[in-house]
Amino acid sequence: MRDYSASPAYLYRPDALLVWKDPVVKERLSWYYSVMRDERPARFLIARSVESPVNPYESSLSLDELWEIHDELSEKFSELYGRVRREEIGANELDKPRWSYLDVKVAIAYRLAEPCRMCERRCGARRMSGEKGVCLVNGKCIVHSYFHHIGEEAPLVPSGTIFYGGCPFKCVFCQNHDISQERVDWGEAVTPVQLARIQEELRLTGARNINHVGGDPIPHLPFILDSLRHLNVNVPQLWNSNMYMSLEATRLLLDVIDIWLPDLKYGNNSCARRLSLVDRYWEVATRNIKLAHDAGDIIIRHLVMPGHVECCTKPVLEWIARNTPRALVNIMDQYRPEHLVLRHPEKYREIARRPTREEVEKAYRYAEELGIVYKPVS
Ligand code: SF4
Repeated sequence: MRDYSASPAYLYRPDALLVWKDPVVKERLSWYYSVMRDERPARFLIARSVESPVNPYESSLSLDELWEIHDELSEKFSELYGRVRREEIGANELDKPRWSYLDVKVAIAYRLAEPCRMCERRCGARRMSGEKGVCLVNGKCIVHSYFHHIGEEAPLVPSGTIFYGGCPFKCVFCQNHDISQERVDWGEAVTPVQLARIQEELRLTGARNINHVGGDPIPHLPFILDSLRHLNVNVPQLWNSNMYMSLEATRLLLDVIDIWLPDLKYGNNSCARRLSLVDRYWEVATRNIKLAHDAGDIIIRHLVMPGHVECCTKPVLEWIARNTPRALVNIMDQYRPEHLVLRHPEKYREIARRPTREEVEKAYRYAEELGIVYKPVS
């Protein structure tokens, strides 16, 4: 086993090592922990070893036929995944078929981009023909930067983070508005093979995981899945997203992601509409987070926003306690006015300041009353 704890990142973040002494963290993130330590193969490697009965890239196959094959292979995946979890089968014993479950996912993902319904905006852009969607992404995978991130939650650090351009949301307070909403094209267009090489470089230099973020990774799903066909290292795949995926996109991700890092920002649709310009936020985000929770390891992030403790923080924490009891929760206090809020504070008066200590303490107190585990990752 490679010694990933040798990274200099641990000098800055000793909690990244200490956090694993917490039995609750270790139990709730047990799958991620074993892949991180190279003790088990990541899910994408298992998906890659499940044989597809057909070449899924054959254009004569309809999308419905592909989904049918996908769902049959998903059952085979579950069986094999169970055996890997129980250590009945090791990474070296996995098959290497010509066409796999992962190939079926890749073939479906490219079809979902033309017309695009990767996220619940379902804007229908013909992306593979060069058209940009509402997220400002077309048929290119745009990477703005990648590096070992040492500011993420302790179990994730150092995190091999890849920042993609574009986002289906239009948050008026976005801290990454340059890459998500304004200069989306200024990144570098990479092929799936190049994306795989980036992931290899990050892992081989000590990253505990590959953290797909942005902007948001959703528009880049076909390229990310495609990159996993070419990835030659074992590394946990982490999905760091606003979770506004369409149900189809979520289904493609479920057997591939080893650890989920979703945002649950708003506790109702009207705050989401006003501040991120999206509809049906609550239904979509909670549907996808529930599916992710039931499928794997998860750390949910909630950003405490000034003036939004009653309308957002409370319903979010209540929902988490009721629906995702295995989740670790990062209650974030680092909100600061950015982007349009900074330019037009009179329009967004309640969020044109940082949250007060009192607001953040209230969020912590409420989480504690609900029995939510937040301290090890907040
Ligand atoms: S991912 Fe982008 S292009 Fe696709 S539906 Fe969403 S906004 Fe439209």
